[in-house]
Amino acid sequence: MSDQDNLLDQAKDLAARAERVAVLSGAGISAESGLPTFRTSQSGLWEQFDPETLATPQAWEKDHQMVWAWYLWRNSLVRDVAPNEAHKALGDWEKYAHVAVTTQNVDDLHERGGSTAVQHVHGTLFNFICSRCRKQYPEQVELPTEEVLRAEPPACPHCGSPIRPDIVWFGEQLPKEPWNNGVIAAQTCDIYLVVGTSAVVQPAATLPRIAQQSGAKVIEINPKRTPESSLCDVSLRMSATEALPILLEARAATRL
Ligand code: NAD
Ligand code: ZN
Repeated sequence: MSDQDNLLDQAKDLAARAERVAVLSGAGISAESGLPTFRTSQSGLWEQFDPETLATPQAWEKDHQMVWAWYLWRNSLVRDVAPNEAHKALGDWEKYAHVAVTTQNVDDLHERGGSTAVQHVHGTLFNFICSRCRKQYPEQVELPTEEVLRAEPPACPHCGSPIRPDIVWFGEQLPKEPWNNGVIAAQTCDIYLVVGTSAVVQPAATLPRIAQQSGAKVIEINPKRTPESSLCDVSLRMSATEALPILLEARAATRL
């Protein structure tokens, strides 16, 4: 039996017994739906731009029309893809255990995969707020029919300032409520699954440590080693769509 087979057995055993499951997900879980992670290249018009530069308050100050067009493009990428077997396994898992998802992703694939308790600690692509008065923008946002490098965002109905995506840009504070719920989930789970995140973006990367200190077993699912790997109780070198259905199956089988 290889080390990885042995580790998978350990993870299945932990999953089978867990009544409360908490998950930290990152861009890797959506990669198999066809959404690029930040560290894989952008495509089309956006190939030449660095996402880590665009997703910043500074970029917005300098050229809000460009940042707006980039988000419209990302928004349309998400609308064109479907949740994969990993998102769906987490949704189905709710039939067998309490499942709390904390995601760094700004897509809605967990929700479309059936998860009902999802905390977006970095915001979502589908909510918009005023860049000045921060009020929610209540209208639908029209997507352009072709890729554009600049677009003027709608004006806030209250103060006339441009609206922006309700996303946490580099250097901005995390929203309190999703973060607090993510901490509570980490403190109260039996197993903590770290799926498809390079675990380098703080403070989300501290959640697995909180879970471990509170007595949970931490299982990492990532085809590549990360700075988190050696700290996890079980680190699986598997993709999210391979590993999560197997762990769910182990849990489902214990109830028969
Ligand atoms: P990241 O790009 O830093 O890391 C992605 C990780 O996923 C890598 O460690 C990679 O090895 C792993 N991975 C790749 N394919 C995988 C698979 N099939 N199964 C499991 N793991 C896989 O992403 P991050 O850790 O989420 O952090 C970067 C930031 O990028 C976050 O703040 C997030 O908000 C943002 N982001 C979000 C999306 C999205 O919403 N889908 C997309 C791009 C970036
Ligand atoms: Zn306003």
